[in-house]
Amino acid sequence: MTVLHNKVNRQALRERLMKEDFRRITVSFYRYFYVDDVQAFRDALYLKWSTLSCLGRIYVAHEGINAQMSVPEHEMGAFMEHLQSVGGLQQVPLKIAVDDDGRSFIKLNVKVRAKLVADGLADGSFDVTNVGTHLTAEEFNRAMDLPGAVVVDMRNHYESEVGRFEGAVCPDADTFRDELPMVAQILEGKEEHPVLLYCTGGIRCEKASAYLRHKGFSQVHQLHGGIIDYVRQVRTQNLPNRFLGKNFVFDDRMGERISDHVLAVCHQCAKPCDDHVNCANTSCHHLFIQCHACRAAYCGCCSMECQTILEAHNAEQASSLSLFPESSSFESTSPESSSFESTSAVFSTLEPSSRESIYHGNADGLATSTNGASAKPSAATQSTVYRKGRPPGREEAAAPHAVYPA
Ligand SMILES: [Zn+2]
Ligand SMILES: [Zn+2]
Repeated sequence: MTVLHNKVNRQALRERLMKEDFRRITVSFYRYFYVDDVQAFRDALYLKWSTLSCLGRIYVAHEGINAQMSVPEHEMGAFMEHLQSVGGLQQVPLKIAVDDDGRSFIKLNVKVRAKLVADGLADGSFDVTNVGTHLTAEEFNRAMDLPGAVVVDMRNHYESEVGRFEGAVCPDADTFRDELPMVAQILEGKEEHPVLLYCTGGIRCEKASAYLRHKGFSQVHQLHGGIIDYVRQVRTQNLPNRFLGKNFVFDDRMGERISDHVLAVCHQCAKPCDDHVNCANTSCHHLFIQCHACRAAYCGCCSMECQTILEAHNAEQASSLSLFPESSSFESTSPESSSFESTSAVFSTLEPSSRESIYHGNADGLATSTNGASAKPSAATQSTVYRKGRPPGREEAAAPHAVYPA
């Protein structure tokens, strides 16, 4: 049988990537369309993209596809040609990442999901194709100045914390599922105002705009292609940039700097900082913002507690290594765990039982699991916990429904 999953371990994959002598281009795209046999669709994409040496994290579902990938520069032609040949993907708009070395992914991971975006909504509760007006970067800039316009960040709080449009409403939501009803509530009374939605790549706004129209909002607009494409248009067309700070991304980089503004603060010392890290205590792996000084002081941990655990673990490991010097590799090589990993951010897995507290997904897809029962806890599933309870120093910055002034 053909191997349809990557079975090489993470370290080897990373080394292989670093040795490549060609450039990679990071692209993303999504589309809502009906896929009949999702598994067959997934396998066909995996086979083709493997032969083109593509890497990335792709979700497929009955409702469509959401992909973030890196494609070898010399294969871009073949890649585009293939996309044109796939039913449902003709003319799909591709977004090319800026500020990127194309080393965002170490493997190709194509996963079947129940939905592209975990919205917590029952299928058929409203018409998901009844979406808002799509705006280009230039149109979005202009619409921001319309009387009564409300700009709404449809991402989670840890994304808007480091970067957002001037004056945007940034709901204090951990998940997209929480955010939809929250936004409808915040906008109550503004049913006739121009509502301008944006997210990372545009896919969350497809659902959100349809939801708000269903809720009676008459002027719903959305940034087509999201922040990623906004930035590309701003740079290529020399438009005024109105996105401040960093665009949080779901790969190794954790964020793409868009403007020099630093909007966030270190969660430990409250000094200006917008660098997301995962707690170095792997059993915690809390996603938080930490400055260089605090990283050194806390050994990369989110708290004293985690630092104590990490130091105890390191001491234990050192003593077991000296007893059993040959067992020096703790790297998991099982296909189960390795198939979930990207370069380091590991945003890809979902533990359904703790869906509310685990950050997962790709550019916009907070994808749901197709089969909750089969999802096993693993190092990867613990990797991106961003709890409601923030580390010391965070609370004061976490006003619910905060509206950030321009
Ligand atoms: Zn600090
Ligand atoms: Zn921690």
